[in-house]
Parts: sequence; C-alpha cells; structure tokens
Amino acid sequence: TYVIAQPCVDIKDRACVTECPVDCIYEGSRTLYINPAECVDCHACEPVCPVEAIFYEDDLPRHWAHYRSVNAEFFEAA
Ligand code: SF4
Repeated sequence: TYVIAQPCVDIKDRACVTECPVDCIYEGSRTLYINPAECVDCHACEPVCPVEAIFYEDDLPRHWAHYRSVNAEFFEAA
C-alpha cells in the first residue's frame, strides 16, 4: 500500500484524491489517509502530491515509518 505521511497535515491538497482510480484516499480532520485494504499500488497519487507526502510503504523515511499504522488505524476506528 501507499501511505500518506506528515507533510499532508493541515495541507490536504487533494490532488491525489482526483488521481486515485479506486477512490481509496479519504479525508480526516487534518490530513488525508489511504485505506490499505483498498489501495492497488498503482502509484498514480505519489507524483501529483505537491508536498511529497505520499510514499510506498517500504520507502517511507524512517522518521515517518509510523504513518503506515496511522493510515491503517484510521480505517480500523471507522
Ligand atoms: Fe490510490 Fe493508486 Fe495511490 Fe493506492 S497507489 S492510493 S490505488 S492512487
């Protein structure tokens, strides 16, 4: 799955939402989240993010590695 990390917080540009072919990017109060159960790893969202907040899960910078669970837990709580 792809993961949205810290740069999205309070930005929520939504360019990724427009690109995602399976509509698996959802809006929270301060950031956007990718549902790992729905993401098909197409890569369309990553290059359009103006703040470079989106990473493939294995390519997350170490200091943002926890965003993998941050994204997943948003959907578990829903
Ligand atoms: Fe959507 Fe593709 Fe990005 Fe996954 S990688 S969130 S399917 S645009």
